[in-house]
Amino acid sequence: MSDLVIAIDGPAGAGKSTVAKLLAKDLGLTYLDTGAMYRALALKSKREGYGAGDGGVAAEIGRRSEISFGHGDPQPVYLDGEDVTQAIRTPEISELASALSVFPPVRRVLVERQKALIVQGGVVLEGRDATTVIAPHAQVKVYLTASLEERAKRRTLELESKGLGAEYERVRMEVESRDHRDITRDDSPLVVAPDATLVESAGLTPQQVADKIKALVPAEVSSVNY
Ligand code: C5P
Repeated sequence: MSDLVIAIDGPAGAGKSTVAKLLAKDLGLTYLDTGAMYRALALKSKREGYGAGDGGVAAEIGRRSEISFGHGDPQPVYLDGEDVTQAIRTPEISELASALSVFPPVRRVLVERQKALIVQGGVVLEGRDATTVIAPHAQVKVYLTASLEERAKRRTLELESKGLGAEYERVRMEVESRDHRDITRDDSPLVVAPDATLVESAGLTPQQVADKIKALVPAEVSSVNY
């Protein structure tokens, strides 16, 4: 299985990270949370005093930042060696990460790193360009989706469980505006890759979704060039 790459695309709140983590555990793969890299970059940009319109500077900040992952659940995220696992999950950072991710120079810096992280195989990655840009040659490519309401509900519960007060209506509006931005951005918009398998997560438990994806893994996995 060490050559296997599973790439999961889809809109905000479809359950990509929960399912990717389950797959990583079940199949012994490394989990790559590409969104966490955009979030870490957003956090550093904010700390340095930059905001949603500062994509050029953010890309430069990205080039001089080290973003890495540890082991565990939640998976620790390190920014220049500092544990930022919690700090990158606030609504403010969600918003800034989404805004900065539309800038091509920002995407270039992070995509290059993401490609380097999957080159050895043995990875399940998730993110809005996982199947189209980062890992177009992955052996398993999935577009995971659910209705806006379903996704907003899930996001609200997730924020509540982390002690971050969340009001459903506000979360729904935020998810909707992030969808809009992800779909309409010029560089790597969120699209369904023609050869990706569409998986609907509504009404299924994360384990059921993971099992559906596991069924797509070919019996023989050969290495691919990225
Ligand atoms: O997945 P997550 O919500 O953590 O991602 C944070 C933001 O980063 C998203 O709103 C999205 O705009 C951006 N992102 C992206 N491409 C990825 C992963 C995340 O543009 N591969």
